[in-house]
Amino acid sequence: MAFLFNSDAARGAIFRAAFAEALPDLPFHIGAADVDPKAVRYLITWTVPEDLARYENLDILFSIGAGVDQFNHDLVPPQVKIVRMVEEGIVRMMQEYVALAVLMLHRNLPVYLAQQRAGEWKSHAVLQAPERRVTVLGLGMLGSAVLERLKPFGFVLQGWSRSERQIDGVDCRHGVEALPQLLKETDTLICLLPLTQETRSFLNADLFAMLPEGASLVQAGRGPQLDQPALLAALESGHLSGAVLDVTDPEPLPADHPLWHHPRVIVTPHIASVTQPETAARSVIAAIRRHEAGLAPEGLVDRQRGY
Ligand code: NAP
Repeated sequence: MAFLFNSDAARGAIFRAAFAEALPDLPFHIGAADVDPKAVRYLITWTVPEDLARYENLDILFSIGAGVDQFNHDLVPPQVKIVRMVEEGIVRMMQEYVALAVLMLHRNLPVYLAQQRAGEWKSHAVLQAPERRVTVLGLGMLGSAVLERLKPFGFVLQGWSRSERQIDGVDCRHGVEALPQLLKETDTLICLLPLTQETRSFLNADLFAMLPEGASLVQAGRGPQLDQPALLAALESGHLSGAVLDVTDPEPLPADHPLWHHPRVIVTPHIASVTQPETAARSVIAAIRRHEAGLAPEGLVDRQRGY
C-alpha cells in the first residue's frame, strides 16, 4: 500500500513530513518514477495522469485544489473515489479575498483608483451597509464560510444553492426558480459555484439583466462560468457598476484583453485562495483515516453532480 504525491516537490516535502508522523506505515512517494503502480492506493494530483489505469488498486484520487473541474473524469474508473481539497487554509484565504472584494466594491475603490491615476479629488455617495444586499451563489465549504466572515459588516446577506441550506442570519434560497427574484434583490453578487455543465456561462447577459442597475460582481469560482463579453457590455451600458475577477477564461488573459484596462474592473491572477500544504496534509490524512475506518471522507465528490 502506498501514497503517491503528484505535484511540486516543495509541497510534497511538507506532506511527506506530516505523513511520516501521522501514518508512518504508509510508504510515501513524490513522483511516479520509483513506485510500484500496483501498490498505490492513494494519489494526490492537480490533473488526472493519462496513465491512471496503471494504478489498478487505487482507492482515492485526491485533488490538490478545492475544485475537480480540471479532472478528466473519463480517465477515472468508477470504483475510485474522488476527493476534493477541504482544508482550513483555502477557506481562510477565500474569506479574506471575498471580504476585500466586497468592501472594495462597497466603498467604490475601482472609481477612486481611477480618480487617483487622474489626480482627481472627488467624493461619491456610499450606500450604507445595512442597505447593501450581498448574495453568494454557492453555499458549500467556501460560500458559507465567506458569509460568516461578512456578517460583522452588517450587510443584508443572502445565499443560493441547489438544495435547501440554512445559515443563521442569511436569507438562503435554492433552486433555479428562486434565482430571478433573488437577483432582483441583489446589489453585490459573489460567485462561488463549482464549474459544472450547469454553471458554465452562468454569469451571462440574462443573469446580469435581472440584477438591479448599479449592481456589482465578485467572481471567485472558475473562469468559464463568466461570459466576459456580456460583463463588458453590462459595464459599458452602466447597468453594472464594477467587478472583481479572480478567475478568467483563458488564464492568463491575453495581453490585449479589454478586462485588463477596464476602469471599473479589478483583475487578480487566480490567487483568491491557494491550498496550504501544512493544513492540506492534515486534511488528507484525516480523509485516509476515515476511509480506512469505512467512513466517507470529507470532500467526497458526487460524480453524478460533478462536484
Ligand atoms: P462545494 O462545497 O462543493 O459547494 C458548492 C456549492 O455550490 C453548494 O452549495 C452547491 O449546492 C452549489 N451548487 C453547485 N451547483 C449548483 C447549481 N447548478 N445551482 C445552484 N447551486 C449549485 O464547493 P466549495 O468548496 O465551496 O468551492 C466552490 C468553488 O470555488 C470550487 O468548485 C472552485 O471552482 C472555486 N474555488 C476558487 C478558488 C480561487 O482561488 N478562485 C479557490 C478554491 C475554490 P448544494 O449545497 O445544494 O450542493
